[in-house]
Amino acid sequence: MATLANMTNAITTPIIDAVCGMRVEPGKTRVVSNHQGHTYWFCSEACREAFDKKPEKYLRPKKVRHKWPAGRWGRYLERMAKANEELFGGGPPSCH
Ligand SMILES: [Zn+2]
Repeated sequence: MATLANMTNAITTPIIDAVCGMRVEPGKTRVVSNHQGHTYWFCSEACREAFDKKPEKYLRPKKVRHKWPAGRWGRYLERMAKANEELFGGGPPSCH
């Protein structure tokens, strides 16, 4: 059954190389780095080195990019729904 939880799992299960964006399978690579309690996998030593030098460079921009549009979009939709309610659902029906 396709539930929202299932879909979310399907999206987040593949592990992405934070440096180059490649998909990495944890069982097939041993290029791993630990940063603030999280484990990150990389496709190559070069990617891991780049990450180890400046982890925040690769972690922060992605988080911001993912969270901001979702939050703003959600608020925008909520506002639109409220505006529609006021326009069409608030008063008594006007057509006879
Ligand atoms: Zn890589």
